[in-house]
Amino acid sequence: MTKHPSHETYVIIGAGQAGAWIARTLRSEGFAGRILLLGEEPHPAYERPPLSKDILQGRKLAPAAWLITDDILDELTIEMRLNCCVDRVDIATQEVICLDGSVEVYDKLFFTTGSAARLPHGFDTSERAFVLRTLDDATAMAKAMSQANRAVVVGGGWIGLEVAASARSRGLDVTILEVGTRLCARSVPPVVSQWLYDQHVDNGVEIVLNAKIRSYCERNDQVEVTLCDDSRLDADILVAGIGNVPLDGLARDAGIAVDDGILVDSRGRTSIPGIYAAGDVARFDCKWAGLPTRRESWANAQEQAIVVAKAALGHDCEYDTLPWLWSDQYGKNIQICGNPELGRTVLTDPGVSHDARCWAFLDDTGRLVGAVAIDAPRAFRPLRRMLQKGHTDFPTEGWI
Ligand code: NAP
Repeated sequence: MTKHPSHETYVIIGAGQAGAWIARTLRSEGFAGRILLLGEEPHPAYERPPLSKDILQGRKLAPAAWLITDDILDELTIEMRLNCCVDRVDIATQEVICLDGSVEVYDKLFFTTGSAARLPHGFDTSERAFVLRTLDDATAMAKAMSQANRAVVVGGGWIGLEVAASARSRGLDVTILEVGTRLCARSVPPVVSQWLYDQHVDNGVEIVLNAKIRSYCERNDQVEVTLCDDSRLDADILVAGIGNVPLDGLARDAGIAVDDGILVDSRGRTSIPGIYAAGDVARFDCKWAGLPTRRESWANAQEQAIVVAKAALGHDCEYDTLPWLWSDQYGKNIQICGNPELGRTVLTDPGVSHDARCWAFLDDTGRLVGAVAIDAPRAFRPLRRMLQKGHTDFPTEGWI
């Protein structure tokens, strides 16, 4: 193993999932120097998938969802500073300057600043109007849900659908307003959008597609949404889930190349030697997409961070993991891998049980490009393996 001088300091800006995995991996892979993890939130790193499910349904974050605990900090001798807002980075002097005036000198620097929820035009967060990004967002939203009868959700993507499912489980009436012609159009093909639509409608959600919103306002403890066709909806709470923006401003201001995310190679290296990025904020050379890509998923935050930490220590590794995400809604588990939205031919596995689904998506040349399974992990597994190995000749026999 390469020896790393114990007097070096590696600073990680962003104590979310990617930041925590960089810190843990640096130490487990033999880095003997100082590791400093700087986080803006008051909480140590935690996993975000439970926010839209467990927390909104009134449960606490499970112990396993905390990625950094006092025991881990002690065992791995990681220094962590919470409520710490970095003001700027000076790449000439290799300094991180915090808003509280403290200055940290780094030998290597990692940006894991993540992404923030995009706000719809004219939408202000309040006691009744929410976005969902942090544990505090989710806790405040859960409290509001416990006193609410009706929710309007703006955006029919993953946040919108998971929030809607949790709100229904608490007995709220829910309307989803989606600007596009179908749900989750960016990440799944029409057959999956239709399944999601049916699932939500069967569970009592009202869905308005092609919804163009003119304005939001709050009146008498209610939020009011007015659409461009002059129709109006009232609700006790309003939630926006219309996508995220990468938090790349600090890197851009420091002179690091960014383009809707910090530009990195498959080892997480930015345009400045010794500075790396991983997770939601990193736009990396992605062999699956064939172009620089940002991925906002639990799996990416963890797996990319591990590779980047190892690469920073001199290991010969590259991040080329297959895109994979999952969602739980109404007790059903949805898994997606590859790029199913690029599929032109849809094949259905007739062997899965009545309520389950498994689809394979092929491109124009008959190559498998993605797979989606609903409550069908066994059917999904070989497709995921095939995609990861880059198999081109998909055996269509037995599929319909
Ligand atoms: P998302 O999945 O990109 O969905 C946003 C949706 O909102 C899109 O359908 C978008 O339509 C629509 N939209 C945009 N502007 C709108 C407007 N003004 N009015 C109504 N609808 C509008 O983003 P998200 O749901 O906010 O999630 C944020 C990120 O977290 C995503 O990358 C998502 O994949 C990730 N996430 C993942 C999971 C999971 O893996 N289970 C769970 C939650 C979140 P257009 O596409 O037409 O713009």
